[in-house]
Order: sequence, then C-alpha cells, then structure tokens
Amino acid sequence: MHFCQQLFVQKEVTQKETEENLSYRSGLKNRKRIVVKIGSSSLLHPETGRLDYHRIDHLAEELADLKNQGKEVILVSSGATAVGREVLGEDRGILAHDAGRMSRKQACASIGQARLIMIYQKFFEEYNQLTGQVLMTKTTIVNPTSRENLEGTIEELLGLGVIPIVNENDVVATLEYKLGDNDSLSAMVASILKADLLILLSDVDGLYTDDPRSNLHAKFIEYVPQLTEEIMNMGKETTGSGVGTGGMNTKLHAARMATASGCDMLIVNTKNGVGVIADVMNGENVGTLFRANEDPTFDLIEYVEETY
Ligand code: GLU
Repeated sequence: MHFCQQLFVQKEVTQKETEENLSYRSGLKNRKRIVVKIGSSSLLHPETGRLDYHRIDHLAEELADLKNQGKEVILVSSGATAVGREVLGEDRGILAHDAGRMSRKQACASIGQARLIMIYQKFFEEYNQLTGQVLMTKTTIVNPTSRENLEGTIEELLGLGVIPIVNENDVVATLEYKLGDNDSLSAMVASILKADLLILLSDVDGLYTDDPRSNLHAKFIEYVPQLTEEIMNMGKETTGSGVGTGGMNTKLHAARMATASGCDMLIVNTKNGVGVIADVMNGENVGTLFRANEDPTFDLIEYVEETY
C-alpha cells in the first residue's frame, strides 16, 4: 500500500521531470572529462564466460572517437580475473564468491590483468590511441600521498593524450570482489579527477523503484535530479533481494560520490552493444541519469572511509 503510494507520487512528478531530463541530456555532449566503466560481465560472452572481442573492439572505437572529439577519456575496466581464468582454462565456478578461494581469484587476476591490458592495447592501437595501465585500491584514495600520486599520474597521462585504463589492484586488494564490478572505484576516480561525466556500462537497464525481477510493479527511473534518502534506500532494498554483482546499492553509493563531486553519472545497459556510449553523448534518453549536484561539504575521503 505504502509502496503503491510511493509509485503514484513518482508518476505525478514524472511529466515535469521528463522535459528537464531530456533538456539536461542534450547538454551531455559538452562534457569534457569522461570516465567510462565496464564490468567483467559486459566484456564476456554470457554463454561461455569467454572474452567478447567484438565488444572490446567496439569499445576501443567508441572511446577513440570520444578522444578525437577532443574529450579526455578514462576507462575503468574489470575483467582481469575472468581473463586469467580463461588463460588457465578454469571453469566459471572460480568466480563464486567463496572467501576460501580468494587467493585463487587474485592469482587469476594477476595473470589476467597483464593479458587484459595487452588485448586493450592491441585494439586501441587500431584506432591510433595510446593507453596506460593504472592499478589502485581504496587505500590509494585514503592515503594522501598515494592519492596525490594517482591524481598526478592520471593528469599527466591525460595531458599526453593517453587513455588511462584503471582497475583495482586485485593482487593486494579485494574490495571490488566484494562490491563487484568497479562501480565504486570508477566513482572515486571520477571524483578525484574532477570528471564531469561518469558512464557505468552495465547489464542492467538502470535504477528501478524495486528489483524488477521480483516485483512486476517496479518502475524504471530515467532521471534522478537529486539523490534523496528515499532513492538511497531503494538501493538497500534491492541489494538485499539479490540484484547481483555490482548491485544497485553499490551504484547508488557511486552516484553519491560522483554527483556530490559535480559529476553527472549514468547507468546504461550494454545489451545492444557499447554504441550506447554514443547514444548518451547524443542526448538520447537511455538508462538512468543521476544529475550532478556539487556539494561543497562533501568529503570523498570521509565517505570512502565510512562506507567501505
Ligand atoms: N577487479 C576485478 C577484476 O578485474 C573485479 C572482479 C569482479 O568484477 O567481480 O577481475
């Protein structure tokens, strides 16, 4: 009953927000510093768990095209563990969230990260783009010296016209194994580097009022002008009902870090391919847009320490 009322209230405001949403999206083409995050699931063929080379090629093409438009691009990519597993010929079960197998996953990531970067470099080279590897952890953000180094190096790479490819340093950290898919990491990077757009490429459409797999009345949310407590709570509920790796709770925390730092964030589905990046830049109404709301009182380090 309470939930239905909540939906009704949202329906009432939708008409007004729709126009605001579309007009705001038409300005996304002007964003200059863009962080694109791709998770392991978007890099693999779901049937086999093996790399989708066509998609990686297309991703390199899309990002190279953004670069050619004069934008600065940072790619945050997971997939190290999956590639390592593929190299070793392991079955998919190795990715099960089993604490006892953590060191095995990390070993796979150690093998896979090097291979992943090699694959990226090969495809980016086709489009005449240089890439650089950046491995980091939560500690990199929290420790002032490491944070400065991270910021300085990425700034330098961007100045050189290079596309940094960021992943968690899985060999020494396990945060993203627990949270999943580098959503948090990409928002931390966007915040530190003062990016103005963060695109989370995902295998979900975006934010719903509830888990759409278990609640037929769950309503899709195209536009979040302000991250209210009510919205943040939706994430808590959906994570509990198993939205999966890189669930909504993680994405909403990412949205909080990004938007409070003055960065727009989008969750978009790659089910029809990574051409969705160009759709976003063309102002099309895809996925969920969390509008930037720079909050001068927001302290990223404090937020990261409290949340993770
Ligand atoms: N950083 C991990 C990797 O690249 C993330 C694994 C995951 O998404 O669960 O493999």
